[in-house]
Amino acid sequence: KEFEDFFLKRELLMGIYEKGFEKPSPIQEQSIPRALEGRDILARAKNGTGKTAAFSIPMLERVDTARNEIQAMVLVPTRELALQTSQVCKELGKHLGVEVMVTTGGTSLRDDILRLHQTVHIVVATPGRILDLASKGVAKLNTCKVLVLDEADKLLSQEFQPIVEQLIGFLAPERQIMLYSATFPVTVKQFKERFLKKAHIINL
Ligand code: AMP
Repeated sequence: KEFEDFFLKRELLMGIYEKGFEKPSPIQEQSIPRALEGRDILARAKNGTGKTAAFSIPMLERVDTARNEIQAMVLVPTRELALQTSQVCKELGKHLGVEVMVTTGGTSLRDDILRLHQTVHIVVATPGRILDLASKGVAKLNTCKVLVLDEADKLLSQEFQPIVEQLIGFLAPERQIMLYSATFPVTVKQFKERFLKKAHIINL
């Protein structure tokens, strides 16, 4: 398989090749075509397998930059991972004109509110801050049709699970969910039963 085989926008392919990716990794080969069809994805994946690009590429492809609204959200358990993931999205999406915002706790809420006055297509966030912004009506998530849960085992820990579930309530009803997790504790299995529809399951 080649990245060309996925019929991605030329601008997105340029970003992929500029990052030095030559061929899709196994998880990308399995995730990208299904995710492009709009299918929910449940993937068992460790770090280092290329999972960030596996969800970022279809997510970027599905963003319509002509629309000035939040269309996708990536939830991660830590600020560090939010910064890394948003960097990958920005690099891959460099030629698409996609606007990516990072929002996490421990930073200025006011700056986030100001940023949301400008165009944002994709938010990469830890759960608490984005729930705060959504509850205040500052982050409008009802146009968000793609949700990624990265490191879902950690995102569905006791601390975060109620926040993640509240956030889902703000999303567009026809949302697509892509869930990536290294392990499958009961919390992740229950989440799958409750929120994923006919998920394409990837087990590498
Ligand atoms: P991740 O599992 O997303 O943390 O990615 C692990 C590393 O693999 C990162 O340094 C990526 O830049 C790199 N990577 C991801 N996909 C590919 C690919 N298709 N070809 C070469 N390197 C890749």
